[in-house]
Amino acid sequence: MTASSDQDHAAAARRLATIEAGGTKFNVGIGNGSGVILSQAEFETRAPDETFAQVRAWLDREIDRAGPIAAIGIASFGPIDVDRASAGWAHLGLTPKLAWRGADMAGWLRGYGAPIALDTDVNGAALGEWRWGAARGTARACYLTVGTGIGGGAVLDGKMLSGRSHPEMGHMYVRRQPDDPFAGACPIHGDCLEGLASGPAIRARWGTSLSGLPAEHPGQALIADYLAQACINIAVTLAPEKLILGGGVLGTTGLLEHVRDRFEALANGYLANFAGEDIVRPKFFPLSGLVGGLAIAEMALAQSGR
Ligand code: ZN
Repeated sequence: MTASSDQDHAAAARRLATIEAGGTKFNVGIGNGSGVILSQAEFETRAPDETFAQVRAWLDREIDRAGPIAAIGIASFGPIDVDRASAGWAHLGLTPKLAWRGADMAGWLRGYGAPIALDTDVNGAALGEWRWGAARGTARACYLTVGTGIGGGAVLDGKMLSGRSHPEMGHMYVRRQPDDPFAGACPIHGDCLEGLASGPAIRARWGTSLSGLPAEHPGQALIADYLAQACINIAVTLAPEKLILGGGVLGTTGLLEHVRDRFEALANGYLANFAGEDIVRPKFFPLSGLVGGLAIAEMALAQSGR
């Protein structure tokens, strides 16, 4: 074994803490540098102090049981300040969860003495899928999650697309179908992509989830069209090799295939290096964010030079 493979092996064996902070639950886990979750737990999201205390107690037990952690990665709901140079780094912005506005999502973990990195939940999911999952081996990949909201993250040439703020792909505008009378459910824009195709938009239109509609209902074709338009916009803008579609709405039987077909029709043969079949399911869903936290923890290690 060479020195560098020894190092690779040691890096892969290091124990990393991952936290996927969501508006309804916190997932916490310990994993390794191969993207494997070794143990995990889930806590309902309550008030910040109560939730933080529960997660810390779990981490303390795991460290007592199996040994120390080398780094901590957090994949958080937002909006959140991801600019490391900012005074407000890791603080939540104007989330609809009022008790969490302004919460510091990293400070409560400083006591472990391990380097901490943080990104959005969807960026984390994109990073984890790129590192170990459905987009492994690509240089450029995007992840679009379609659930309570719609969010997108991108890894471009091995780096997260992120700067002073993170992308807000869910709020892109798409061309509305002429026979769609729905005003849109986005509180900010009305009929942006999230306003037309998120889980709440689907419920507001038809009173049920997409899976709850009968097979002959035109709802799935409509949602597939909006999602395919979003995929076209992403493909022509960022030139990914894989575009991962995740989130609860994509659990609808046949929807992914529908989006691929519609994508091909809309692309009209124009894209030489991206086809409908490059729109894929996540490997780790529903744990994409938790696995992503491991990739974020690796970034914390790299940033700290350890
Ligand atoms: Zn919007």
